[in-house]
Amino acid sequence: MSRNLPVKADRIAEDIDALARITEPDHPWTRRAFSPLFLAGRAYIESRMKAAGLETRIDAGGNLIGLRKGRRPDAGTIMVGSHSDTVPDGGRFDGIAGVISALEVARALKDQNIELDHDLEIVDFLAEEVSIFGVSCIGSRGMTGQLPEAWLTRLSGERSLAQGIAEVGGDPATLLAQKRPDIKGFLELHIEQGPVLEANKEDVGVVTAIAGITRVEITVEGRADHAGTTPMESRSDALVAASQLVLDIRNAAAELARTPGHFAATVGEFRMEPNAANVVPSKVVLLIDGRAEIRADMEAFCRWLDGHVEKLAAAYDVVIAPPNRVSDNHPTPGDPRLLTILEHAADRVGAKHRRMASGAGHDTAWIAKVAPAAMIFVPCKDGRSHSADEWAENDDIALGAAVLFEAVCEMDKGLNEEKA
Ligand SMILES: [Zn+2]
Repeated sequence: MSRNLPVKADRIAEDIDALARITEPDHPWTRRAFSPLFLAGRAYIESRMKAAGLETRIDAGGNLIGLRKGRRPDAGTIMVGSHSDTVPDGGRFDGIAGVISALEVARALKDQNIELDHDLEIVDFLAEEVSIFGVSCIGSRGMTGQLPEAWLTRLSGERSLAQGIAEVGGDPATLLAQKRPDIKGFLELHIEQGPVLEANKEDVGVVTAIAGITRVEITVEGRADHAGTTPMESRSDALVAASQLVLDIRNAAAELARTPGHFAATVGEFRMEPNAANVVPSKVVLLIDGRAEIRADMEAFCRWLDGHVEKLAAAYDVVIAPPNRVSDNHPTPGDPRLLTILEHAADRVGAKHRRMASGAGHDTAWIAKVAPAAMIFVPCKDGRSHSADEWAENDDIALGAAVLFEAVCEMDKGLNEEKA
């Protein structure tokens, strides 16, 4: 790539490589939140923040923040960041590409002696991935007063989440009262974790919305009987009914996915009883993970599901309780003004871009509840992520970082004009 970018690709590569070396050696790439390796990774990031002239701190939510002061103390904060924790055996780029790109924005501003009016904060959010405490996006929720109080007593072994947050330098005592009204705009760069950009030879995805996630539990009850002696036509087989349901869910989701707006539904958890070779299955519990960019799609899916399980119960002579929504989060749209700024920024650096939704959850979704927020995707190989095979080309990340840089500069001007 011979583009003349405002950011330096080799600095990005150096940092991503350095962090890749901070991993459990036999489980690349593993740097799970709250582990000693995670803290080692953070120490590296903090040293790089300091080298870039940033003032570092850990906030109450356990987020590592590097601050570049703006000229106008009252202007508020432009924030850019992502996460440095990983899932087990994955994540050489997931999260860290965004943290290092954000850091590179600060370095590029320094290189060019650009002073912003706003404070600029580069953030490594604590525990974006599902952590040892069984919950995710701890830092972005914590920073903005959205962490449920009950989570603080969740245990991992002997350790509570409150202790875990304290050990990384956060402050559980003041955590629940955190508010960040000073955030005027937030941006996150992330690898796509899907195949769209690579397949279309595009550089940047401007994320229109982060899909809402709805989890629905369904219990199918049949009757245990002898597998050898019970005639086929007089069985009440919970597994047969549940299997039909799984196929029907797949087809209903595929149909919704063909209409505008991202939609996906997966039966990812499935338990059967008694799970014995010579017994007709008496009970199946399955959990559906549904993702929708457009809320009406999820409502339509749930309405279909409610009616469909009644029909299946009758057809297969089983009992299916009304589907139970165990969790239900609405989609988070990107801030329209920031989406336009990001598209202009992509045009300025010559990055081919498209608007697209995120099927995965991100810290941006939590920040977006309290401040204008948006994110961009950069391509990743074969759409793979959460795997040791996850890969993104450094030039692609650098181009994304350049988009962030241009967007931050435009936000600094644009957000002021609004005030004036
Ligand atoms: Zn991530």
